[in-house]
Parts: sequence; C-alpha cells; structure tokens
Amino acid sequence: MPYVGVGAQTVSTSLTGAPMVKAYIAIAASLIFVFCIAALGVHHSERKFNKFNKVSIDDIHKSDAGVIQDNIKTENIKKYLRIFTKDPHVAGTEANKKVAYEIANAWSEAGLEDVHTLPYEVLLSYPDFENPNSVIIKSSAGKEVFKSKGVSPVIIPDEQSGKYAGHQWLAYAGNGSASADVVYINHGTANDFKNLKLMGVDIKGKIALMRYGHGFRGDKIHKAQQAGAIGAILFSDTQDVAQDGVESENVYPKKIWMPNEGVQRGSLMHGDGDALSPYYPSKKELFKGRTIEEAKEDGVLPSIPVLPVSYTTGYEILKRLSGRPAPSDWQGFVGGNLTYKLGPGFVNGEKLSINVHSELRTKRIRNVIGYIRGSEEPDSYIMLGNHFDAWVYGSIDPNSGTAVLAEVARAMMQTINETSWKPARTIVFNAWDAEEFGLIGSTEFVEEFVNILQKRAVVYINMDCIQGNISLHVDTVPILEHAVIEASKQVENPSKRERSRGRKTLYDTWMKVFPDKKAGVPKIRVPGGGSDHAPFLNFAGVPVINFTFKNYTTWDTYPLYHTMYETPFSNIHLLDTDNLSVHKAIGQYWAELAKTFADDVILPMNTTHFASVMLKTYLPQLKTTISGINVSRSDFEDIRTQYALLSKSAQDLLTMSKKFQETIHFTQHSFSQNPYDPKHVNAVNERLKSTERCFINPRGVSMHNPSARHVLFSVSDSDSYSSSLMAGVQNAINSYDLNPTKKGLREIINQISIVQYSVICVVNTLRDVI
Ligand SMILES: [Zn+2]
Repeated sequence: MPYVGVGAQTVSTSLTGAPMVKAYIAIAASLIFVFCIAALGVHHSERKFNKFNKVSIDDIHKSDAGVIQDNIKTENIKKYLRIFTKDPHVAGTEANKKVAYEIANAWSEAGLEDVHTLPYEVLLSYPDFENPNSVIIKSSAGKEVFKSKGVSPVIIPDEQSGKYAGHQWLAYAGNGSASADVVYINHGTANDFKNLKLMGVDIKGKIALMRYGHGFRGDKIHKAQQAGAIGAILFSDTQDVAQDGVESENVYPKKIWMPNEGVQRGSLMHGDGDALSPYYPSKKELFKGRTIEEAKEDGVLPSIPVLPVSYTTGYEILKRLSGRPAPSDWQGFVGGNLTYKLGPGFVNGEKLSINVHSELRTKRIRNVIGYIRGSEEPDSYIMLGNHFDAWVYGSIDPNSGTAVLAEVARAMMQTINETSWKPARTIVFNAWDAEEFGLIGSTEFVEEFVNILQKRAVVYINMDCIQGNISLHVDTVPILEHAVIEASKQVENPSKRERSRGRKTLYDTWMKVFPDKKAGVPKIRVPGGGSDHAPFLNFAGVPVINFTFKNYTTWDTYPLYHTMYETPFSNIHLLDTDNLSVHKAIGQYWAELAKTFADDVILPMNTTHFASVMLKTYLPQLKTTISGINVSRSDFEDIRTQYALLSKSAQDLLTMSKKFQETIHFTQHSFSQNPYDPKHVNAVNERLKSTERCFINPRGVSMHNPSARHVLFSVSDSDSYSSSLMAGVQNAINSYDLNPTKKGLREIINQISIVQYSVICVVNTLRDVI
C-alpha cells in the first residue's frame, strides 16, 4: 500500500456547530438503542440496565461496551492467529511484509478507515542461515569433543517445518569467532559483575557465560563487553525454564516447559529505535546521523560475538568449568549433579570457541495503521497497539496480541454497523514492525509524529502478548490507575474455576493474585521498557497502559519465550487451554479501555491520585535517596531546601487537583443538562490531556540518552525492562558520588528543581488563568 502520512488525513478540528447537533442525535439514538436492547433482553443489558428508567449518558456508554464485548469471538481470534503465524516472520523479511499486509487486509475487511502502512528504512541483523552458529570444545590435543548444533529440532512437523525456523541466533551480535577461557557470571546484572570482581575473577579477554533472566539480554552483553569480555554465551537455566525436570514427559509438547534443545532468541541492541537515526525518524529522504562504527563505539551495538544456547549445551560448558564454586545464589540446574564454578577455563585443558555469523543490513519495515474516526472529537486519539514481527512463528509473542487486536477492530466495527454507536473520539489501531530488534517501528513512528501525538494522543494502550493464563496484569502511570482498575471490573473472569469461587471479574483475580495490600488495590507499576509503549511515554509524554495476562509463578516470562516452539499448537494447548478464553478476555479488556477513553464525557484521568502518589510515594523515596548522599552539613541543607520547595509544589498540586475535581463535577452536571454545549467539557479535557506532557524535558533527562525525556519516569539504565524514578536527579547523585564537586552539587539541586518545575506546570495547566 502507498505511504500516506497521518497529517494528510487530518479532519476538521472544529468542535462547534455541527458536532453539537450530532452529539444530541447520537445520545438520542443511543437512548432508543438502549430501550430496544432492554426490550430484547440481551444478556449485557440485563446486567447494566435493570433500572433503565434512569438511563444516564454514562449508562449508554456502558451498554455499547457490553455489546462490543459480546461481539468478540474466539473463533475469529483463532482464525487470525492461524493467518499471522503461518511462517517464521522476522522483521525485514518477505514473510513479515506478508504479515503486515494480512493485518492491513483484516482491518480493511473489518471496515477500519484509512488503513495504510508507514515504512522506515532501518538497520536490522541476520545470521547466516546456511551456516549455523556453534560452540566448539576441543581437547588440549586439538580434537573436537563437543559441537553444538546451532539449530533446534522440529518437534511438531505440521507447525514448525518452516525454512530456518530452528536457527539459534541473536540480532546485532558481533560477527566472528572467539576462543578463550570461559568465566561464569550468573545473570550478568550490575551486581553480578561487581561481585565477580570482589571474588577476584577477571573477565578481561575471556568469554562470558551468563544465564537468561533478571533483566534484558542486551544489558548483560553491554556490561560484559565493557568489562573486557571478547565473546559471550547466554543459556537458559532449567531453574527458570524446566521446573518439572528435563525428561521428555516434563517438557514441551507434553508440558509448557522448555525442551532440551530449545533456545531463546532476541536482540542485543542497547537502546531503542533505529541505531543509525537516533531521535529522528529513519525515512528514506532523511539523513542518518550515526554510522555503524559510531553505534558500536557508543555501545548501542555490541562488537563481540554472542550466542544463545540451550540448557543441554549449557551443561556441556558448565560441567567442564574449573575455579572455585560460584556463590550459592549463582547456582542453578542444567542437568547432572553439578556445582556451577566461576572459571576461568576448563579443568582438563580443553578449549572453547564460539563461531557467530552475523550480518547488519538496512531493510524496509512497515507499521500498519487504521482508524475508527471519532464522531465528536476526531483529533483526540485513543491509540491501541501491538507489534507483529516475531523471532520465529510468534504465536504467543506477539501474535496472540495481533490476533486479539484484529478481533477488537472487527468487533467494534460490527457494533458500529449493527447499532447506533460510534466512538466520540478517534480510535487508532497500530501494528508495529521490528519491535523485537529494539522497539524500532514504534520508536521511529513516535519520532516522526511526536508533535502531532503531543497534541492529539490521549492515551496509548499496549498489549504485546499473553504471558500466562492466571490473571490480568497492568502497568500504567498514576493518572490512569483508576481507569485501568474500573475497566477490569467490567470484564467477566475467563476462568470457570475462578468464577465458581466468586471471583466474577478480571479485577477479582487480579486483586487476589497481585494485591497491593496497603493500598487495597491491585499492584500497579509504571511501565519500563521492553515493549512499544516506551517511546510514547518516555519520548512524547503520552500516558500509557501496558497490560497482559501473567502467572504468579517464579517465571521471568513464559518458558517457551522467543523459541521456535511458539506455534499456534503450543499457544492453544499450553498457555490458553480453555478455548482461548484468556485471549477473549484480553480483547474485552482492551475494548473496554478503548471505549472508556473514547466515550467518557470527561477523560478518566485522575490528577488528585497522581498528586497523592507524588506526596506519599515518590517524594519519600527521593528523600531517602537524598539522605544517603555524602555531603557536608551546609551542602545538605541546600539540597534539602530545594526538596522542601518541591514538596510544597506537590502539595499545591494536590490542592489544585481537588479544586479541579469540583470543576469536573460542575462540567459533568452542566453537560448532562445541556449536551448542546460541549465547550466546557472540551476545556476540561484539554487540560487533563496536557498534564503528562508537563514532564517532558525536550533536552532529555539523561546526558547519554537524550531520548529519555520524561522527568519522572525513565527506562532503567541497568535493566531496560524496568523503570526508574526521577532519573535526572538519580544520575546527578551518582555523578556526585563518583566526583563530589561544587558543580556536581549544584546539578543535584538543579535536577530537583526541574522536577519541581514540571509539577508547577501541571498546577498551571489545571488553573483557570496563568
Ligand atoms: Zn513481543
């Protein structure tokens, strides 16, 4: 499909005149619809309209949401899942291009408007599929005693016989071989590297052996390279991926656990978006600001060869390691009665080498975008997204999400066609390409449209893939916490067992499995990195929701993550056994959230809650951090003074928010009396929409990463999967600890003041006059 920029399709932003009449007609039509539904005795209408003589505007919205939920069908999700996971579809390949067009077709057939693709030219990476990567161990006499196959075997031929499906590789690994002694470094976290040093083992010139888990693999390799490793091997520990044992009856396809030769693939890029076009979109017609050499020098791309291996190959390496035993919390299990040792080197003089074939190539990727245009506020965007590129078949990651999103689109269009419903605000459907390589499709999109998004985007709602089958799990920013909780109460629990125990909704199991006991609500964190919501929040200041289904086990993620065994078979039978009921519930929750944000007269954003989180959680955390700085008494007083001023501003925000709450009540009331006049509503919503933007510092909060621009929430430097709070202040404190100068002290105070400036921005945004 031809490229058409979003800007080219801008519709009128006028909210006066015709829309007022339309609002009235829509409400009148919805009322008629509600009465018809009630008369027909449709399931959801009974639940929500038992007192339909008192139908309010909000009730009408709820009724439509019930109809959309009923329209989401598992047969369709299955059908889409089959289509999207037929072949291995890594980003930049013909197979993945085909998936992009299949998504566009599905959305167009459903009736979405302006479905088109948005292309970018980006740096990707591939192995040599004719020449598998390998680990070779040779005896001291030079005889080969072990060689890994480098290719995982097909277990279910009907589902996994695609060409090159089994290849074990990591994107952006350095090309070449490395022969050296091996050192074991547990999970390769910052602490692990620190402890290894304390134990007197040097990684310089060695091959680093690390297990998966406890953080993003790219960060592990980044640290290993910084510490002087010349190659690295990542292995899956059965402690994480085969907890019932490694025998065939205990692993895939009998159970959900990783089979013997299963290997997790993934990207090693340290940072998000195209490596050669930081902060700007990677369009054909635009200049690329960085070279490959610079990307390597900057540590964005690794230079050393890296291989992922199975626990079976991990065993071959670990059983030979010499040196003293690793600490007890570094011990795992890969087979046999083995104590993991630190190395360096092997007991009997054997030598290990890794051979990695890896090529960097500029390829075209394509995001897919489609719309349901809002009837009242077409330029307010409720954005739903999921990526579609996969390491192999991707039937869990990401196409469980892709299939559900297509069904949400279809169910919404069916509702529009069969009822009088049309969303008041525009719902935008996004399918991202090359997420797996480093959130590339979404990051390039946000970089290209950041100014438009900052004006139009209300919220970005991400669902990458289902990760378990027990409970809903939601990460979001404080102003949206109430909205995500309320929506979870509107969706039926997919588990029959849970329903029979009285837990009727998603909320009930969520609250049971992941409770925040002190707050009396489910535990909700601010999203870190690891999926496509990150650039929306961290670069553009768009509030985000990232949700999934999880298990309350010790899994970092599900055991078959990024393997060739994520095929529809494994998905249906291993992660969602009751006729894809979890997939369906995910679709219903996604639709419920979208509907809420699209139709609520006042946007469901709670600044009062945000202010109290600031006062009760963030500021006490900051206070603790500050009290740990090693400074003179008078210098500490200077920091404390600025902290006190920040506290005062946060208190002002709470007062202002409470006052604004009154404005909201008044506006809601006057709108219900006179829906002909939405201008007060628009004014209130504009302010709510702008609050998160206050925290974007265009200069960036992190010196070495200007794309991290959110003053409060950043992707953590040490683990890209988690988030860090007030990174600017934290970085200034870290620098001061290393080099305590007067300038460094001023920078700490300056960074606290920048947070304060952002808080004051919210106060001013909510105020009637400036
Ligand atoms: Zn994913």
